[in-house]
Amino acid sequence: MVFSINDYDNHEAIVFHQDRASGLKAIIGIHNTQLGPALGGCRMWPYGCENDAVTDVIRLSKGMTYKNALCGLNYGGGKAVIIGDPKTDKSPEMFSAMGRFIDSLGGRYISGEDVGITVADMDVMRKQTRYARGTSDASGNPSPATAFGVYQGIRAAVKYRFGNEDLKGVRIAVQGLGNVGYKLAEYLVKDGADVVVADINPDRVNRFKDQYGAEIMSPDTVHRADVDVLSPCALGAGINEQTLPDIRATIIAGAANNQLAEPHHGQELYQRGILYAPDYAINAGGVIEIAAEGPDYSEQKVMEKVAHIYGTMTEIFTRSAQQNTAPETIADQMAEERFKGSVQAAA
Ligand code: NAD
Repeated sequence: MVFSINDYDNHEAIVFHQDRASGLKAIIGIHNTQLGPALGGCRMWPYGCENDAVTDVIRLSKGMTYKNALCGLNYGGGKAVIIGDPKTDKSPEMFSAMGRFIDSLGGRYISGEDVGITVADMDVMRKQTRYARGTSDASGNPSPATAFGVYQGIRAAVKYRFGNEDLKGVRIAVQGLGNVGYKLAEYLVKDGADVVVADINPDRVNRFKDQYGAEIMSPDTVHRADVDVLSPCALGAGINEQTLPDIRATIIAGAANNQLAEPHHGQELYQRGILYAPDYAINAGGVIEIAAEGPDYSEQKVMEKVAHIYGTMTEIFTRSAQQNTAPETIADQMAEERFKGSVQAAA
């Protein structure tokens, strides 16, 4: 029963849809539309069972309410999940059906890319609905904007911790050189940072090493690198019971979603004096770009808005110290101040 799932939090709607002809099985979660229509990506994943998919859409759509509110967007939180393996189960018919499903909600939910979904998939959905974003004729892949936002967040964290935002000589380990991590590592190298990289895909690290001469570390040990900043840009739950005691960085700031395996790990980082940049605050660049789509879209304006992540991070760290409270709790409070109505919408 959906209402008794742990993460269920008065979601406004959880909508199920099956299209037998194409094999589509999908769920859209709309958590909160206090600030505007629900905006959040569509994920395709081979869930072990349908309950896992329901739990995921409930958790992810709530996360988007917080993320959109914190980065100042006038959008609520929503997410879609497609049950299936993106490597084997995709078809144009499936994404057409998904586009029609999104359209049937009349704009209450607006979609973009998430795990397992490409710009080409969004293009197919877009033919069925104007509520599909991140298409090739619009803003496209949001990863560069995300990388730029993480770069700004790292600068803010370095400034807060060391009193100087200059990255020259700052040792930074980038864990995961995918769409976001690669671009981020380029920003860091160009600023003179001493960058160490790791990826389970040797092609990615070798390419980066050839291009920039960076040191390569094993993906199994990069979390304990002797660096100033650890930047998780791979999968979630990288900060867990096993890795946390070995972390030597004094700042953790990266793009990965759900970096803390359990909420109490944030508290433990705080107690150990490690400055943690809350993931949904620092990785909001992509959604800021998707939100800006429309007739007035300008990449320059998007990047200016993404750069505000610097100020948001500084505010989080400052309030965290003032209230002696872990940064991710402060980020939640700041988001709630907006979507629960005590602070006026920004833009
Ligand atoms: P991606 O799939 O392009 O890249 C992930 C990279 O991590 C891959 O190169 C993969 O080989 C590597 N990897 C996987 N497991 C690893 C491990 N154990 N150690 C080291 N490397 C490993 O994904 P992406 O789009 O770059 O996103 C990276 C993270 O940022 C994800 O957690 C994603 O959810 C999050 N995120 C991305 C965006 C975006 O705009 N793309 C926005 C917000 C959050």
